[in-house]
Amino acid sequence: MKLEKAKKLLIILLVAMLCVAVVIMAADAMALPGFILCIGLLAAIVVVHLLYIRCPHCSEHLGRDWGEFCPHCGKKLQEENTDNL
Ligand SMILES: [Zn+2]
Repeated sequence: MKLEKAKKLLIILLVAMLCVAVVIMAADAMALPGFILCIGLLAAIVVVHLLYIRCPHCSEHLGRDWGEFCPHCGKKLQEENTDNL
């Protein structure tokens, strides 16, 4: 998976997790299945983050630094032809 796709997927998963959290707080009846879904989404976020948030050049993990340049090798992270974000 490309870095840009992984970033988009992470944001989608985060928003989904927040939505589930809001539903859990609003409706007590959904507490247990909602909580399990929340944990599942959190696990997916961690997996995507660890596996795919990496520099396309040196493959080092980027951590929380999603800037324009890799903090390890200093190369530009954004690939060409990705201006349709
Ligand atoms: Zn790098």
